Amino acid sequence: MIINRVECPFCGYKMPITFSKDARCSGIFVKCKGKNCKKVFEIKINEKEVK
Ligand SMILES: [Zn+2]
Repeated sequence: MIINRVECPFCGYKMPITFSKDARCSGIFVKCKGKNCKKVFEIKINEKEVK
């Protein structure tokens, strides 16, 4: 199983959130843990965005 990391779209910080390549997700918001960022962003996972 391939595990992907959620990355902050603002600063690129790799969040301690992982998802499998089959995951589908939207409408979930998390706060970036980057020291100088702390922005809230939506986790969007779909086939097009999975690398
Ligand atoms: Zn960030």
